[in-house]
Amino acid sequence: MLNLTGVTAGYGSTTVLRDVDFAVGEGEVVALLGPNGAGKTTLLRTATGLLRPSAGRIEFAGDEITGRPAQYFSRGGICLLPEGRGIFPSLTVRENLMIQGRGRALDASIATASELYPVLGRRLRQTAGSMSGGEQQMLALARAYLTDPKIVLVDEASLGLAPLAVDTIYEALGRLVRTGVSLVVVEQYVQKALAIADTAFILNQGVMVHSGPAKEINIEQIYERYLGIN
Ligand code: ATP
Repeated sequence: MLNLTGVTAGYGSTTVLRDVDFAVGEGEVVALLGPNGAGKTTLLRTATGLLRPSAGRIEFAGDEITGRPAQYFSRGGICLLPEGRGIFPSLTVRENLMIQGRGRALDASIATASELYPVLGRRLRQTAGSMSGGEQQMLALARAYLTDPKIVLVDEASLGLAPLAVDTIYEALGRLVRTGVSLVVVEQYVQKALAIADTAFILNQGVMVHSGPAKEINIEQIYERYLGIN
């Protein structure tokens, strides 16, 4: 559904991604792995139109969309959840949902969000910043869901969360996937990401060094080779 072919991208004169191929199918869950600075965030930014590639093609649902503005990507249903979640901490849960409804009435937005994550329905008057990290991430996912996405790309969903909250987030990501959307996760908890993923891609120094079924990934080998931990 979303295909990047031979993509080269970077910032100014710095090239980060080199000739990268990346593909996500309908309803597919993809784990994008790699060491710090490998270019994972840069790939998410390129795949969501925030960064224009200097070479290569981006196709979505059969159309070439290379170089189109980011709004074109988001209107088509490509949704990025950036690191730090992109929610408004000083606003209430209700207000956070209100400004994402995509034309839905507020009641409908709240109903849709609480159906996906019931805890949100019980926290409507609470400020988003006063919720637990896991709950905040669920709010971010619910807001993404309200944009009627076809694919959601999540950058470090579990960053800074306690291990129990990480389990909650993976539960929440699983629920999102069951609605039929495609999902890309960039994740430091490699095992968690691989457990929900169909396919894994490994990026190292801006080059895609591996892609294949997630269940065939040898975790020890990945750590040793690419993540610098023996
Ligand atoms: P991490 O796991 O540490 O978040 P990452 O794999 O997501 O890393 P990127 O954030 O994509 O990696 O960064 C890849 C390279 O691009 C790094 O060397 C980084 O310093 C550089 N980079 C990122 N953003 C910019 C920017 N706005 N301007 C210039 N260089 C940048």
